[in-house]
Amino acid sequence: MKIGIAGARGSIPTPTGKTLFNREISTAKYGGNTTCVYVMADDGTKHILDAGTGIRDLGVYLSTEGGFNGHGEANLYFSHTHWDHIQGLPFFVPAYIPGNKITVFGEAKVKGIHLGVRPSLESALAQHSDQPGNLPGLLSIEGDGLRRVLANQQNFRNFPAPLEALKGIENYVDFVAGATIYETATLKIDTCPLNHPGNSISYRFTEKKADGRKKVLVFSTDFEPDADGADERVTAFWGDADMVLADGQYEPQNSDVKVNPFMVGWGHSDYRTDLCLAAKAGVKLLVLTHHEPKMGEAYHDQLEERAKQEAVRNAEKTGCKTDIELAKEGSWYTL
Ligand SMILES: [Zn+2]
Ligand SMILES: [Zn+2]
Repeated sequence: MKIGIAGARGSIPTPTGKTLFNREISTAKYGGNTTCVYVMADDGTKHILDAGTGIRDLGVYLSTEGGFNGHGEANLYFSHTHWDHIQGLPFFVPAYIPGNKITVFGEAKVKGIHLGVRPSLESALAQHSDQPGNLPGLLSIEGDGLRRVLANQQNFRNFPAPLEALKGIENYVDFVAGATIYETATLKIDTCPLNHPGNSISYRFTEKKADGRKKVLVFSTDFEPDADGADERVTAFWGDADMVLADGQYEPQNSDVKVNPFMVGWGHSDYRTDLCLAAKAGVKLLVLTHHEPKMGEAYHDQLEERAKQEAVRNAEKTGCKTDIELAKEGSWYTL
């Protein structure tokens, strides 16, 4: 599969330039658009993770050169519906073009589910009588949870065109975190709940190659490791992944660097925690994303360098070798 970074900024878009009061910020190298990742599987299927502002330019490409002029098919998966992960959808041109077949996936907010008191998948499903999906955990096509949140974003006070104008979206699928939401002979997509205010969902793509090898990509944005077992859950979900895209917005809790401090409870992680989880999970490449919007290029260059040094030290100490780098908007990976 090929993985393209269409947006790697966290929380709010961050353009390069000079502000009203002459503060300068340069974000060109890592990008200023909020979260969006494009995955092209070897079997030709197209998958998009999150609709932050990075999805706008992806949509321009898809609707002009990418075949989404009424004949395109893609799945769009939401980690969660915080603004920085949905705000690009009203500007995603392929979604407006009739004939395109876009299916949108997001977590069903089943009553009573949040971390710590999350019931099992089975008991959550038992609360729903409308579960027509052919995979366990798919609750309803046209489910009102995700669709309602997206419709609210485009109600008449907020945006000129309603969600109904997005004729290229064929289905809205709500699922319970933990479900396998996609499965073909060559590609399987599993999900896992993450600790984040309002919850967030991690996606694991397992692709089977023609020669029988497997390649694994995990997308884990917006999570704060917690003490109630979430670490073990994340470690298991990342197990033996070739590449993990992980939230690395903050400085580690005891960092000597005092800018961009760790903010407990805000739902984000840091490179030290991510490296620790990745080492336990046997991850080959860790790519940090959801970059802090108030910090510019020089800071992120230095953060990347410190993270790389720590990865080398960890490898010397534990023998677990994980490469690490920061996600850069516009970059591609091949697994
Ligand atoms: Zn976010
Ligand atoms: Zn969030």
